[in-house]
Amino acid sequence: MPSPAKLIVDLSALTANFHTLERMGGAPVHPVVKADAYGLGAAAVARKLMMEGADTFFVARLAEGEALRQTLGSRPNIYVMDGCGPLDILRLQAARLRPVLNTPEQIRRWLGSDGGSCALHIDTGMNRLGIRPEDAPEPFAGLDMVMSHLACADDPSDAMNAAQRAAFELVSRRYPETVRSFANSGGVFLGPDYGFDALRPGISLYGGGPEGRTDSRLKAVAAFRAEVIQVRDVPEGETVGYARGYSASQPRKVAIAAVGYADGVLRSNYPDGKVWVADELRPILGRVSMDLLAVDVTDLAVAAGEPIELFGPHRAIDDAASDCGTIAYELLTSVNPRVPRVYVG
Ligand SMILES: *Cc1c(COP(=O)(O)O)cnc(C)c1O
Repeated sequence: MPSPAKLIVDLSALTANFHTLERMGGAPVHPVVKADAYGLGAAAVARKLMMEGADTFFVARLAEGEALRQTLGSRPNIYVMDGCGPLDILRLQAARLRPVLNTPEQIRRWLGSDGGSCALHIDTGMNRLGIRPEDAPEPFAGLDMVMSHLACADDPSDAMNAAQRAAFELVSRRYPETVRSFANSGGVFLGPDYGFDALRPGISLYGGGPEGRTDSRLKAVAAFRAEVIQVRDVPEGETVGYARGYSASQPRKVAIAAVGYADGVLRSNYPDGKVWVADELRPILGRVSMDLLAVDVTDLAVAAGEPIELFGPHRAIDDAASDCGTIAYELLTSVNPRVPRVYVG
């Protein structure tokens, strides 16, 4: 039996990135572990980072917060970025979760229920979640953090970064007693001015570069590997896979690996996707199937059982993402639940 595709998560690389970001931003790292820690497994990731000193975590959904509370016990602070809807209050309080309040209505609701600790999200220009600076309330009981989020942190040359920073600086003066959190991964790399009191990185903890390309200061954390299960010779003039996606203009040796779009290999790998095999970067040939993909291994000594890597230490996740027209975030969160997560380091 071939071994199934795996997502190997290197926990020592994770902790190295955690400390690198902490050093660069000059403030504590409050890891963002939404979407199951970008697909890596929030339980293992958060446990490991807690041992490294993280005491505050961010998730998106209430249910993610409830699961994380179960995993981590009562000690750490867990913020839920979705805020608090009318039906959420009791669940937030039962699990001692802190909502990130995004609207005046949410503030009224939380205070009306004797809410407790919370954060306030101030929108400084992204127009996604948060209260506009001109509507920012007076400090109130339980307010432990004010935060904002950068829209263009992956592009240091974008003038919006400095504008948002200035807007946040100004509005946060209203809350002199409150922890200020501003920088996501990209923000940490914009410089110490962007760090404020607490950092909120996600992708760079997991090895993704801040500008959508590899950064030598970060280590690869996730490796998506699979195994070749058949090798075949394709004569000149024949085609490979669905819709004749690849035509052999000369004879080719083709490896078929047991991994496909049902595992999270995006179909948009066609036509530019590549994988690492036998220490080379080789093109994926034709369409990705549900459970299989074909790789050009012409002139390589490859047989069934040979590992391939879709992304990881040998194939930068940012490069793998740009070859299919997307970002590392989407590659990580696309790895299907049928792919076992294996923790090392
Ligand atoms: C997802 C998210 C983050 C983390 O962003 P990265 O780019 O992954 O570092 C931080 N803050 C907010 C509000 C987010 O939604």
